[in-house]
Amino acid sequence: NSATKAPPTPSPLRFSKYFQSNMRILVTGGAGFIGSHLVDRLMENEKNEVIVADNYFTGSKDNLKKWIGHPRFELIRHDVTEPLLVEVDQIYHLACPASPIFYKYNPVKTIKTNVIGTLNMLGLAKRVGARILLTSTSEVYGDPLVHPQDESYWGNVNPIGVRSCYDEGKRVAETLMFDYHRQHGIEIRIARIFNTYGPRMNIDDGRVVSNFIAQAIRNEPLTVQAPGTQTRSFCYVSDMVDGLIRLMEGENTGPINIGNPGEFTMMELAETVKELINPEVEIIVVENTPDDPRQRKPDITKAKELLGWEPKIKLRDGLPLMEEDFRRRLEVPREN
Ligand code: NAD
Ligand code: UDP
Ligand code: UDP
Repeated sequence: NSATKAPPTPSPLRFSKYFQSNMRILVTGGAGFIGSHLVDRLMENEKNEVIVADNYFTGSKDNLKKWIGHPRFELIRHDVTEPLLVEVDQIYHLACPASPIFYKYNPVKTIKTNVIGTLNMLGLAKRVGARILLTSTSEVYGDPLVHPQDESYWGNVNPIGVRSCYDEGKRVAETLMFDYHRQHGIEIRIARIFNTYGPRMNIDDGRVVSNFIAQAIRNEPLTVQAPGTQTRSFCYVSDMVDGLIRLMEGENTGPINIGNPGEFTMMELAETVKELINPEVEIIVVENTPDDPRQRKPDITKAKELLGWEPKIKLRDGLPLMEEDFRRRLEVPREN
């Protein structure tokens, strides 16, 4: 009878807001190109709370405008070379200028960001027991003597060149990650990112894809830097974000290459942009900068085997998606 029945157990749903295990995620550099796309993807999961720490050197609030004011989102103006006290479960550590004109602008600051910034994020990870992912770069392979580059290749890097603040900086960042892992048991993940492109790239950052698209839209000559036979492999940003999340969620520390193995010469890239965006535009060959790697293509066997990841978007499909965003920002609508 009803008198002897145990009182009803409260519905777990009623109390869920006290018990629910939300994941708190810090994204450093989250106002930048890749970071803001990563934030978009993380915010789609209602169990995630996202904190972005960014000093807006190359990023902007505009990239995150749809999340500002959202209850699960927080944006902090913060320079990672200063200590940061927050309570989080995961850290995606992206903060660092990525394009040569920005990272060479203040090379000492670039190396501080890579070394002191990564040290601080590792100190934070250690204090709160968070898992931390570093976005390293294919530049750790320097001007590679092995092609394509797999993760076991140690690289061919000039320690005293104008790019060294970036590539040697990232190499030290990787070293710090592994030393904190071995010495303090921190859970680490290292992604070696290859050239990535897509909407929200800085228009005037001097990167080849953003240059060519902006030039094609403005009807200015596409500037292929000599000799034009140097190669790169370009990964669309949604594929990149998918790879980063799989790496974070998986069981492997890395380093793991994340990039698109489709390899193009810079002349081929110019011709593709011309064909897709502006068939009238001129292509010219201009002087190159020192230490420009002659070829680069990721070996992604490890990402395929360990993360079940490979890129889906082909260059010819990704470029038009970027064109739309660039036309809007440059205020040059397509003529029909
Ligand atoms: P980005 O310049 O758009 O983003 C970097 C972000 O970091 C910006 O929002 C910037 O304001 C912020 N930042 C820079 N220094 C900081 C500091 N000291 N403190 C706090 N914030 C700081 O570049 P991206 O292309 O989005 O690159 C993101 C990460 O991916 C970087 O670590 C970069 O090295 C790596 N990566 C990118 C590529 C690529 O092709 N885009 C290739 C290899 C590696
Ligand atoms: N740190 C931080 N946030 C934290 C904990 C540490 O920014 O929550 C910084 C701290 O200021 C230090 C760095 O991380 O400069 C490395 O910290 P760790 O505890 O490993 O080294 P220590 O402070 O003992 O030198
Ligand atoms: N590049 C080019 N024209 C440009 C900008 C760059 O031909 O307007 C070439 C550059 O010489 C390099 C390649 O494109 O060989 C990629 O340059 P980017 O700076 O985009 O990336 P990274 O050198 O870091 O791979």
